Amino acid sequence: MSALLVEATRIAREFDYPAEQVRRGVAEYIRQADEGLAKENTTLSQIPTFVTAVPNGTEKGLYLAVDLGGTNFRVCSVQLHGDTTFSLTQSKIMIPRELMASGTSKDLFTFLARQIESFLRIHHNDHFEAHQRRRANNAAVEDLFDLGFTFSFPVRQFGINSGTLIRWTKGFNIPDAVGHDVCALLQSAIDDLNLPVRVAALVNDTVGTLMARSYTSPGKTGTLLGGIFGTGTNGAYLEKIEKITKLDSMKDVHYDKSTGEMIINAEWGSFDNQLSVLPDTIYDRQLDEESNNPGIQMFEKRVSGMFLGEILRRALLALHNDPQIGLFKPSETSKWGLDTSLLSLVEEDTAKHYPAVKAALKDHLKIENPSDEECEAVKILVHAIGKRAARLSAVPIAAVLIHTGKLQTDELVDVGVDGSLVEFYPNFEGYIRDALREVTEVGPAGEKKIRIGISKDGSGVGAALIALVASKDETLQNP
Ligand code: BGC
Ligand code: MG
Repeated sequence: MSALLVEATRIAREFDYPAEQVRRGVAEYIRQADEGLAKENTTLSQIPTFVTAVPNGTEKGLYLAVDLGGTNFRVCSVQLHGDTTFSLTQSKIMIPRELMASGTSKDLFTFLARQIESFLRIHHNDHFEAHQRRRANNAAVEDLFDLGFTFSFPVRQFGINSGTLIRWTKGFNIPDAVGHDVCALLQSAIDDLNLPVRVAALVNDTVGTLMARSYTSPGKTGTLLGGIFGTGTNGAYLEKIEKITKLDSMKDVHYDKSTGEMIINAEWGSFDNQLSVLPDTIYDRQLDEESNNPGIQMFEKRVSGMFLGEILRRALLALHNDPQIGLFKPSETSKWGLDTSLLSLVEEDTAKHYPAVKAALKDHLKIENPSDEECEAVKILVHAIGKRAARLSAVPIAAVLIHTGKLQTDELVDVGVDGSLVEFYPNFEGYIRDALREVTEVGPAGEKKIRIGISKDGSGVGAALIALVASKDETLQNP
């Protein structure tokens, strides 16, 4: 083997995440999860969402939903047909970089409201104009669209339709929004444009994913867990209200307690920020130091799409800087610019002379004519980084299943997932399942009971479903 491949293989081994460590990770996750249910300001936030029931597929109506994710902003209207199906009209736009990290919250929310306006003009113009006329005549405002706001960042919720931003994650950094109610910010930008829209519910994308999955594939027990493995990573699951002991100290919150359960937004991107059990290579450390948010989202930085490309770039740079080896020079400027699609393309390519790897290196890193051997080195690293991410992803999944006791029955346990990694990275679910089997309390028998399904763009439908729940809750209309 050439020096290049020997060294690439050595680096790849640093990304091994063996069964023993998976098991330790699960035990520690369960500990941090319990802590998060009991008190505030813990690593795992375990945020109560005040959503206390999952749908059963019979819900009906027309709702608006918007989704501010890590990369795109989507606006959609969702018609729930009440028979587990829905139709969805949507528009999607990439969020301009400057709005993510250098503007003010006003700039961002005005931009969002404008997108909602143009969506309404295109798809619901009659409704829109009728509303504008009523406003002009000072007539009573009626017939507002209820909108579910999917906001894929950590928010401390005070009810189904309000919550303050705890911190930005992924590529976002707009300091003046932190601590503010993001529903109120959106509503005020909407009102500035006189749009016929009421922000009825605030929804984390994982909660939306869980709701959507539960609506479209209702089983006997509904869906237990919704997970995102995309630009960022996180999960939401159904918890027994009696176990969420920190609710006792929260004043002035009201919610329907009759089901005895509530969806918890775990914010598992920040699992183990203290690194007591997470694997840690030099590349992980360098990446963290130069990130927007050093010391937090440490799990996310090892698992999600926004970061995997950057880990890869740093590993490639190490190979380049080694004078014995002299791999091509990876671009300096593309820091954070290597998205997951590069990893998926590279992992997928098993053809002779690696045509897809070469094309991807050219597109993403401006590398012209890499040798086959260089491509092989890239593949070795990508494989290691992607596989570690998938095996790490098994940790919260296994922990939630164990912690909720759901594997103890004979029934299938349903998990809904979404995001570019689970959707496109080859065999991501397969690696997750391998690791799940290695967890003692899950084992091969438990792993077989887990049904994992993609809930494609579920957050739109999920947000509509939560807007529906909220619009029916009288206590929210007249608190
Ligand atoms: C955010 C979560 C979100 C996840 C997936 C993370 O960075 O903190 O709120 O659910 O990304 O989009
Ligand atoms: Mg998303």
